[in-house]
Amino acid sequence: VKRRISKPDWLKIQLPSTGNYNWMNKTIRDHKLHTICTSGKCPNAAECWGNGTATFMILGDICTRACKFCNVKTGKPGPVDFKEPIRIARSIQIMKLKHAVITSVDRDDLPDGGAGIWVETIQKVKEMNPGTTMEVLIPDFQGMTNLIQQVMDARPEVISHNVETVRRLTPQIRSRAKYDVSMDVLKYIAAAGVVAKSGLMLGLGEKEQEVLETMDDLAAIGVSVLTIGQYLQPSPEHLKVEEYITPEQFKFYETEGLKRGFKFVESGPLVRSSYHAERHINALKK
Ligand code: SF4
Ligand code: SF4
Repeated sequence: VKRRISKPDWLKIQLPSTGNYNWMNKTIRDHKLHTICTSGKCPNAAECWGNGTATFMILGDICTRACKFCNVKTGKPGPVDFKEPIRIARSIQIMKLKHAVITSVDRDDLPDGGAGIWVETIQKVKEMNPGTTMEVLIPDFQGMTNLIQQVMDARPEVISHNVETVRRLTPQIRSRAKYDVSMDVLKYIAAAGVVAKSGLMLGLGEKEQEVLETMDDLAAIGVSVLTIGQYLQPSPEHLKVEEYITPEQFKFYETEGLKRGFKFVESGPLVRSSYHAERHINALKK
């Protein structure tokens, strides 16, 4: 008999119904933009969009990588859209976002990995939205520090890069990304004095000890914000959930994270990298 684990109650989510959700949806569509909220089938869309926050995804909606947990389309991306940065900046203005989170697909097809568009986007957002803080969730740029430096020079307030899973499971779960490359990217960011943030998904078969070791590795290189959430299978073609981690276990990881010196740990079943992002930056400002 095939083992089937059903979704526990604590993962039941709110359905999108509020006026704000529809308005956000329309603004994003009118500006021909993408969000990881919809591309990634995020379970928090009703809550976040209802509260007027979203995570924009730049450089198109087709990724050159194919991580087995991720719902973003894979293939050959279209040509670079040089008007995308201004449309992002304008949407942030219309949405009156105080804190904006931006991510991107991986563009291993471009010589600069998309760094140029990243820089342009950050600059345009700042220019048109003085006072809005920004978190950029970047790819690994294949570990090329000159490209990461370009993004850093545009001065976003927080730079995040997700390690996603523990060392042992990385080759099975992430397509081309390597655990040590991700650690090096984060180390480079933190060493420059920029707030470095990372995220982990649980329920993929990792052991508690391995999660704690990953936390040790992240803490040792100066990462200050950590998010931990439950992996949910976006479709039957994606990796299956090995385990539903209990809210108590998430709480345990939060406590362990704080012991290790992270300034902020957001840990819970529905936590995603960008969940409550404005709280992370507000906590760091204190
Ligand atoms: Fe979007 Fe992040 Fe909220 Fe999910 S948690 S809906 S990805 S902003
Ligand atoms: Fe998804 Fe992996 Fe592409 Fe990121 S690099 S968008 S996780 S497929």
